[in-house]
Amino acid sequence: MIEAGKLTEEFGSLVFNDKIMRERLPKDIYKAVHKTIEKGTHLELDVANCVAAVMKEWAIENGATHFTHWFQPMTGLTAEKHDSFISPSDDGTIIMEFSGKELVKGEPDASSFPSGGLRATFEARGYTAWDPSSPAFIKDGSLYIPTAFCSYGGEALDKKTPLLRSMEALSEESVKMLHLLGYKDVARVSTTIGSEQEYFLIDKDFYKKRKDLLLTGRTLIGAPATKGQEMEDHYFGVIKPKVSAYMHDLDEELWKLGIPAKTKHNEVAPSQHELAPVFETANIAVDHNQLTMEVMKKVADKHNYACLLHEKPFEGINGSGKHNNWSVCTDTGMNLLDPGKTPAENIPFLVFLTAVIAAVDEYAPILRLSVASAGNDHRLGGNEAPPAIISIFVGDELAEVLQSVVDGTDYQSAAKVQMSMGATVLPHFTKDNTDRNRTSPFAFTGNKFEFRMPGSAVSVANANIVLNTAVAEEVAKLYAKLSGYGPEELKKNIKDILRQTLEAHKRVLFNGNGYTDEWVEEAAKRGLPNLKSLPDAMPYWISDQSIDLFTRHHIFTKEEIHSRYEILLENYSKSIHIESLTMQEMVRKDLTEGIVAYQKDLSKEVVQKKELLGDGSCKLELGLLKALDDASFKMGQALTKLSDDTKTAEGLTENLEAASYYQATVLADMDELRKYADEAEALIPEKYLSYPTYGQMLFSLR
Ligand code: ADP
Ligand code: MG
Repeated sequence: MIEAGKLTEEFGSLVFNDKIMRERLPKDIYKAVHKTIEKGTHLELDVANCVAAVMKEWAIENGATHFTHWFQPMTGLTAEKHDSFISPSDDGTIIMEFSGKELVKGEPDASSFPSGGLRATFEARGYTAWDPSSPAFIKDGSLYIPTAFCSYGGEALDKKTPLLRSMEALSEESVKMLHLLGYKDVARVSTTIGSEQEYFLIDKDFYKKRKDLLLTGRTLIGAPATKGQEMEDHYFGVIKPKVSAYMHDLDEELWKLGIPAKTKHNEVAPSQHELAPVFETANIAVDHNQLTMEVMKKVADKHNYACLLHEKPFEGINGSGKHNNWSVCTDTGMNLLDPGKTPAENIPFLVFLTAVIAAVDEYAPILRLSVASAGNDHRLGGNEAPPAIISIFVGDELAEVLQSVVDGTDYQSAAKVQMSMGATVLPHFTKDNTDRNRTSPFAFTGNKFEFRMPGSAVSVANANIVLNTAVAEEVAKLYAKLSGYGPEELKKNIKDILRQTLEAHKRVLFNGNGYTDEWVEEAAKRGLPNLKSLPDAMPYWISDQSIDLFTRHHIFTKEEIHSRYEILLENYSKSIHIESLTMQEMVRKDLTEGIVAYQKDLSKEVVQKKELLGDGSCKLELGLLKALDDASFKMGQALTKLSDDTKTAEGLTENLEAASYYQATVLADMDELRKYADEAEALIPEKYLSYPTYGQMLFSLR
């Protein structure tokens, strides 16, 4: 346990961070590495050799015997292969070695990672390349080196490579724009991300007894508990002692890894919680979020919990997301989405805000796709999560500022209102000019946007790749319109250019309640896409618009786009396939076993009781027997249909066709089967079930 007084020393104690490098690297080497990190310049091998030697010493001092290139293949998880530092000598002893070459390049076999057809099976070689902009760290006795992963032919096979490319694209276009606007000292712009992570904790023993949770991460059957989240008593509720101990342990593990865990609280659903870190540069934030998810699970295991990261582990109560707080910041310290005191006069802010609005409207289908997965599709459009329609909340004050740009009028800022709560002992403070909005998928929150659609289980890289690239594109378009003007003319015309862009995209702005049916209708009238599932959205990924966007900014080649298309579809179908088989097995074996045992006992009871009390008795037992018989009959029919349709799905070889079939038919079959399974389960006493119920799982945390 870290003592509170030691926290400043212990934070990042397992990280090869800037401070360690400054202390341990020769000055010129440190400068070279620093330049690479800050400016994105190329790193020479002699520098790498020196860094490797110092890194090895530091790692060994901190208990590492191995090193690993750590990367993020298209599985959505992380991958690692460990090599020890040992090198045998002639005299039977060993020395510990680690070269610059080993630091900068790895050669994992790429043939067992998803490639979506990019790599023929005989081309097994892949490469990992050190990403010096994300610090190495020590975990479980190994030195972890964050790396990018590509095929023998140089195509990206991971999430980091396109993320880094998209950050560079946005930087390049933004710097050009800022120079035009007179901010000549800006050399680089970076995206910052703070991703709030939601999760569920349940008792590990319960978890182990549920095949659906073990194999698919979500419950596939399960009658609702008699209590759900209707009392609104969990959000920000008192954290129970055992859960609090878990959260404390989790914070400490994260802090040691240099992850700035900041906020923790109970979430809306029972047994649901959230952790939010302080924001960081996008690339590091994405790495840290991957690590956070892993550490959450590991620490949970120690505390006899299972940590569920699935987007919809339980039917009928809130699912989990990963709010992606996103902003753009210059190397001179300017947050380009900070409106300042006079937003209407803040030209860089208005330019970037306009670019974001245009980007989100123009590329809504691709942005929707960036958060699509079999898991997240269950959450989006549910009663608790943003709908699949993408709109932007800017709040009243900014809406007025934007309107004044559109109308060509001067904006008068409303005077700040003093807040008084009616009791003099309470402090007075000024009220924010804008309320919060919790239903918008893409909300302006003061000096950043909060993209609330990403799912809890997946990497946030995809969402940020699309966001960065789309905004880069819109900044570039604005630049093209503005760059012909001299400085004086620019001042005169800039609002007019912004007005044109805002006019074209204002349909995406919506300050109301995004969870209502009226909004779904209104959005359709405005022509905003409502792409409910991954297969619905997928064709947009390979559209000309998408290919133009990503190839123009060198984020993906056409081949890489197509490979990702195949991978996403395949993953989707595979997930539902596994769910279908798991559900069939649970119904056929576990639930049926419970139904049969209970029916048997009830029948025995009826026979015995009737002997004693005569024919008029046993009304309750007979009613239960009949209800169970009805439900299990329908359950049997639905099971047969699911089984048949799943076999049909297995025969479909074209990826989009298969995914669409899984979505439209297999998922619908699963819903139908679940209806009767849950009806039956609700009638059976818990002791007849080999797996725990919703009530047991959701309300047992102490
Ligand atoms: P809320 O609870 O309303 O969602 P918070 O103020 O707790 O909002 O912040 C949520 C997240 O936004 C935190 O992770 C925070 O670090 C992050 N954040 C704050 N400023 C920025 C920024 N400029 N860029 C990216 N993320 C930011
Ligand atoms: Mg939030």
